[in-house]
Amino acid sequence: MPTRFVLATANPDKAAEIERILVDAGAPVELVPRPAGVPDVEETGSTLEDNARLKAVALAEATGLPAIADDTGLEVDALGGAPGVYSARFAGPDATYADNCAHLLARLAGVPAGSRSARFVTVAIARWPDGREVTAFGEVTGRITDVPRGRGGFGYDPVFAADDADGATFAELSAVEKHAISHRGRAFRTLAEGLLVLAEVGDC
Ligand code: IMP
Repeated sequence: MPTRFVLATANPDKAAEIERILVDAGAPVELVPRPAGVPDVEETGSTLEDNARLKAVALAEATGLPAIADDTGLEVDALGGAPGVYSARFAGPDATYADNCAHLLARLAGVPAGSRSARFVTVAIARWPDGREVTAFGEVTGRITDVPRGRGGFGYDPVFAADDADGATFAELSAVEKHAISHRGRAFRTLAEGLLVLAEVGDC
């Protein structure tokens, strides 16, 4: 029997990716969307792991169900690792994806191709109301392009070219191609493996 988990994210782009990756990985889970009445969780942590845990704990407490949460950051070497935990609000508190991409390209104006290295990092957590949890990490390296390219994906996808994608941005890949190499794909496949092990010992 699959375990019912509530998905902590309120971001439909992330929810769709997480569900697809977990289903494809054969994770023994049934996902319930985040209930509309649960207030936004303030991401006050100083690390991605802190923020993922804040969201997982809040949703597990609010619903009484085990929760799955994640937090992702884009770390750009030429900016000393920024925006990192501030990726969602890099261009300001109400920034759109396009605002954030434009702000990033402006901050990197004049930075040569060889110095535009970056990585996406995801921390994924499955957390039970009694405090048990499984944590997983995923990372993908690449570089920030000079201009946005592609129409797929979301967030910084149009300006991130993964090292394993032959120069294409994430927004130029299909969802299947992105998940195969992405930070989120790697983190949630590892999380799925952890949940499968727990299911085998009857603890999930
Ligand atoms: P979050 O804190 O995990 O919601 O992610 C922070 C921000 O990072 C999001 O608002 C997006 O702008 C960006 N982001 C997260 N995941 C991705 C991705 O897979 N591709 C591109 N941008 C992403």
